Amino acid sequence: MRFHREPIPVHEAQEKILAYACGGAATETVSLLESEGRRLAEDIIATSPVPHFNKSPYDGFAVRSADTIGAAIQRPAFLQVVGTIACGDAPNLQVEAGQAARIMTGAALPEGADCVIMFEMTTENEAKAEKTVGVKKEMKPWENVILLGEETKEGERVIPAGKRIGPGEMAILATFGYARVPVYRQPRVGILSTGSELLAPEEPLRYGKIRNSNSYMLASQVRQAGGQPVIYASLEDDPDLAVERIQSILSEVDVLLTTGGVSVGDFDIMVDVFNRLEVDLLFNKILMRPGSVTSAARYNNRMIFGLSGNPGACFVGFELFARPFLQALQGKTSVGLPEMEAAMGVDMKKPSSFARYVRGVWKAENGKLTAYPVGLDKSAVVTNITDANCLIRVPAGGRGIAMGDAVTVLRLPYGADE
Ligand code: AMP
Ligand code: MG
Repeated sequence: MRFHREPIPVHEAQEKILAYACGGAATETVSLLESEGRRLAEDIIATSPVPHFNKSPYDGFAVRSADTIGAAIQRPAFLQVVGTIACGDAPNLQVEAGQAARIMTGAALPEGADCVIMFEMTTENEAKAEKTVGVKKEMKPWENVILLGEETKEGERVIPAGKRIGPGEMAILATFGYARVPVYRQPRVGILSTGSELLAPEEPLRYGKIRNSNSYMLASQVRQAGGQPVIYASLEDDPDLAVERIQSILSEVDVLLTTGGVSVGDFDIMVDVFNRLEVDLLFNKILMRPGSVTSAARYNNRMIFGLSGNPGACFVGFELFARPFLQALQGKTSVGLPEMEAAMGVDMKKPSSFARYVRGVWKAENGKLTAYPVGLDKSAVVTNITDANCLIRVPAGGRGIAMGDAVTVLRLPYGADE
């Protein structure tokens, strides 16, 4: 199988992967505060109407509109004040004809009243509690009343399953009394970098060696895609060791990401590992750059992504394949990076037989979206990933693209410091 590689288009590879994510992952119930950032495993239903009582939007007086007929600034209608209703009170008074009740913002409207007149439109003098109040405006029935169920009806679906819980969702969950929240479990994602050249970040540099940056880059990508990263110590280029380690890691995680060793070099062990484990190979070559050797396989009901060792290619491989898979496992309905059209900001007249995913930045310039590649677009370059807020998709063939040409931009959730 070593040199047997049948390249497939990106979208086909994505479809093959997503076929294994349907049904989503397991679910669990967590406290409301813990649910922030997670994805809902069930539709959230309004457990009561909002508001669940008629209430006042102002500080003022609850009155009967019929008592205000003909009232005007010069000709106030005087009413007898029979009580005060504060926020949180369950009013135990009745507003009869010729009467008014002082009422505060958010307080429940008392029986008998059908409108609220703001203090500003009355003769009310804040200094003393008057026994009567003059209403200086004719009121319509139900004017200035927030009606029961006006915002939400009981039983309405207020958040669909699969939605990520952010500030708006937290507010809704609290409103409807969801102290415990059903969410998708976060997939545990093992990260294993391979390469005898790799040093841990705490190790001093040695000639010929480099520090393992991919594992930490991937840990961030996994976390931002809702997974729980588990970094394993990096592996030497030894297929015997690799087979053993990968088997043991797969018993501890839901998904495994490996980096390095998927090319055709003398020490590229992953091909050997896949053969020995007799995995169910989904693909081992994609019509794209960088990362054409990105592979995926199933083993023991687990997905293994064999990402390239080149940091740029590893980054792109995660975004195009692992991200949508992890999102789908957590019930997200539209997966992958959001796409939009932009104009290319520079010439890139380098023809390529494979579609290219160029790390870039998009910005709005004179009301138009423009995309620029970031620095050196070499797949081995680590230090410009920090600048990228998108991948620019440059189609295969032709003469590359010219400045001003339309391109598709895949928006990354990183890069811009917001
Ligand atoms: P490979 O895919 O194993 O052939 O690796 C391709 C290139 O990426 C080599 O120059 C490696 O040294 C580099 N590389 C591989 N793994 C890592 C890693 N975990 N962190 C940083 N660079 C890496
Ligand atoms: Mg290697």
